[in-house]
Amino acid sequence: MQSCLTCFEPACRAQFDINEVIYNCPKCGGLLEAQYDTSGIDAPALKRTWRERRMSNAPLEQSGVWRYRELFPFLDDYSHVVTLREGNTPLLQSTRAAAYGGLANITFKHQGFNPTGSFKDNGMTAGVAQARRLGMKRVACVSTGNTSASMAAYASAGGLDPLIFIPNGNISYGKLAQALEYGAKTFQVDANFDQILALVRVLTERLGIYLLNSINPFRIEGQKSIVIEMMDQRDWKVPDWIVLPGGNLGNVSAFGKGLRELHSLGFIDKLPRLAVIQAAGASPFYEYMRDKGQKPFAAQGHPETLATAIKIGDPVSWPKAQLEIETSNGVVESVTEQEIADAKAVIGHSGIGCEPASAATLAGIRKLKLDRDADVVAVLTGNVLKDPDYIYRYHTGELKAPDGSTITPTFGNAPIVVPNDAEKITALLA
Ligand SMILES: *Cc1c(COP(=O)(O)O)cnc(C)c1O
Ligand SMILES: [Zn+2]
Repeated sequence: MQSCLTCFEPACRAQFDINEVIYNCPKCGGLLEAQYDTSGIDAPALKRTWRERRMSNAPLEQSGVWRYRELFPFLDDYSHVVTLREGNTPLLQSTRAAAYGGLANITFKHQGFNPTGSFKDNGMTAGVAQARRLGMKRVACVSTGNTSASMAAYASAGGLDPLIFIPNGNISYGKLAQALEYGAKTFQVDANFDQILALVRVLTERLGIYLLNSINPFRIEGQKSIVIEMMDQRDWKVPDWIVLPGGNLGNVSAFGKGLRELHSLGFIDKLPRLAVIQAAGASPFYEYMRDKGQKPFAAQGHPETLATAIKIGDPVSWPKAQLEIETSNGVVESVTEQEIADAKAVIGHSGIGCEPASAATLAGIRKLKLDRDADVVAVLTGNVLKDPDYIYRYHTGELKAPDGSTITPTFGNAPIVVPNDAEKITALLA
């Protein structure tokens, strides 16, 4: 079998050339996924090769994505790759956060250490490589922020023109600033994410622009590297749980596919359980899985959460996410704005820090009451500086939830106004 795009729908499974510019199955409208001939893969030999590559100065080997390219071999020519040395993100421990989550230990895989500050870089380097291979000149995405920051950087670095569509007034300044600085033509549209995605799908088709939303199957392939690198860093010891926030559900789809492939090819001896955490105000997948079998999947018309990276009412990848949750014996949970904000402050006080969506992981772990001794990896998806406004408001007691209620600064740490007077400050510190 050559590399190909395959329809994800079990009843269809139609196959298409890897170079067709399609985002859904032309026959049935289903999601697409990349498939490869993996018959030549020798897991022990590749594990050694991947370790050796860490000592190389070659850009492709320094990338924490392309180092693992044998597990997503869709390119025939690696000169199409644009790398900003994405991936290479650390595993970090925190006793404070573990205790808050009801665990003896916790490990954070911090994707906020990526070049543009989120895991979107792992997928974008792959999506932009495919765009260049197809000879595309312009790429586009709709974004709640991080996708646009990442696409702007990778497209500009690769000599492509990035076009970004964002919901008016619903994006953090850190992310918007990145898109502008990285040279993207940025359109603010007076509509929500899901509506703008429909608009952009019309425009990309009409104007021959390559779409780099998470529906793009090559981004999913790049994001598999997050779990591959995680297992490599853990010397292939599989955790009991991998916990991540869920918005469009592309990341859980990538993790699940990557882990299943690692398992079937003999890199790991079991599958970890996946836990996806949604914000209560944007939780269509949580509600669907909770009532499974009783109701069809239903989009949420007006998603609301301050965790803008997961403010998604109609997640495109939900069928893939469902397969991965079921295959891994996983769970889906939802957490409130207050729970997210407090968990975020705990991660911050651990000296680690993350953006609001990422903190849904620790809030979810606390709510799920996992076995205290469980081996848990929580994926922090974005950098603490993505949303400084949220941080300042939380610590000063000014953070308001979308329903207008004030978030209690349980772990508030407001700046203290003092006179320029050593005696008075000494007294305060006594
Ligand atoms: C995109 C994003 C998410 C959501 O990931 P999905 O693949 O859409 O489920 C979560 N956190 C951050 C920081 C993100 O940028
Ligand atoms: Zn199909």
